[in-house]
Amino acid sequence: MSFDTILKSGRVIDPATGRDGIFDIGISGGKITAIEPSLPANGPVTDVAGKIVIAGMIDTHGHIYQHVTGKFGLNPDMVGVASGVTTVVDQGGPSCMTLPGFRAFIAEPSKTRVLCFISAYLVGGLEGHYYPELYGPDQVNVAHTVRVARENPDLVRGIKAHAEIGGASRWGLDVIKLGKEIARGAELPLYIHLGQLWPEKEGTHIDPNELVRELVPLMDAGDVLAHPFTRHPGGFISTETGDVHPIVWAALERGVTVDVGHGSHFSFDMARQVIAAGIKPYTLGADMHGYNVKIPDASDDRSKNPFFGVAPFNLTNAMSKILYLGMSLTEVIATVTSNPAKMLGMEDKIGTIAEGREADISVLEVLDGAFELADNSGVSVTASQMIIPTFCLRAGQKFAVTSPLVPPAAHKIAA
Ligand SMILES: [Zn+2]
Repeated sequence: MSFDTILKSGRVIDPATGRDGIFDIGISGGKITAIEPSLPANGPVTDVAGKIVIAGMIDTHGHIYQHVTGKFGLNPDMVGVASGVTTVVDQGGPSCMTLPGFRAFIAEPSKTRVLCFISAYLVGGLEGHYYPELYGPDQVNVAHTVRVARENPDLVRGIKAHAEIGGASRWGLDVIKLGKEIARGAELPLYIHLGQLWPEKEGTHIDPNELVRELVPLMDAGDVLAHPFTRHPGGFISTETGDVHPIVWAALERGVTVDVGHGSHFSFDMARQVIAAGIKPYTLGADMHGYNVKIPDASDDRSKNPFFGVAPFNLTNAMSKILYLGMSLTEVIATVTSNPAKMLGMEDKIGTIAEGREADISVLEVLDGAFELADNSGVSVTASQMIIPTFCLRAGQKFAVTSPLVPPAAHKIAA
């Protein structure tokens, strides 16, 4: 048997199959054709000794509807293959009206595998949902969105909506209920953003604890609660008790899952409390967009945006953070491989390293030392390990890590 590529002597960690050990992986015709402790060198060999070899990473929360969503939308391959990530899921950029553009201008030309959770709103995530008046219940069309989701199952894997005090102050939970109706009609998961997005309507005040108590019962098994660690009001920690909302536990028991959705609002203090309480995120999701990461060639007026952030991050940086917070390396890897594959209903296609699968593979390095990890609430910690991407294969094609969105490993603190 000959191969187009052999990844030699890497530590393969594959939570889907439980495999953890040193293996050679043979790739031919874009597929994984052999996984053995040692393969004959029948083809070009890439030595990955000392590296971690995992299924192609899946970022469950991207904003890559470039140009159409204004500065909010990043280049898909910069977030994807050029960052070592083989699949990126746009969360709520495209809508029922703008999905054809997403297919033609984003999904098709990208080297990265591009999917989306379609926006519940007619306009989609323009400029990161900047103008709240575009996102009320009159700006939702259930039938149209269900139809488009059903007609595009290769691209649309879920529905995106928001549960936060700004929207609730205008429309109560009406929009979320419509989002749930869309998800039911399309038979897809509903992904709910937690944490304040818009300012409250003048003269109103919404209790974020009450909002969580009303929202969570609407969610079913397979639906996703995102941003549990937000530093904004309305995350998993009750401001009344300082503990995780009891209703969140009930939801997790019936199969609702948790996506980190790191973004600019990730808080070490919140994450520490939620994880210490025993809740481990199921999927990770970097939630990078044009206002929370620095795009090298853009004129920079990001600071006016409510989601402005300065702490550098990406998917592997977020992995390093949950590793620091006490999850095992295998659990961390599951949040970007096997678990998101299930969330997307695509565990028969992606999320594992197995013979016969398309060769979507990410190669990582776990550095030992002392590294500063920071959030945007001013907390920084010193981690003893840092995960960085080395390269990836997407359907067997190799992509080096060249994205300016990957924070330099030079965040290493001198010993
Ligand atoms: Zn987002």
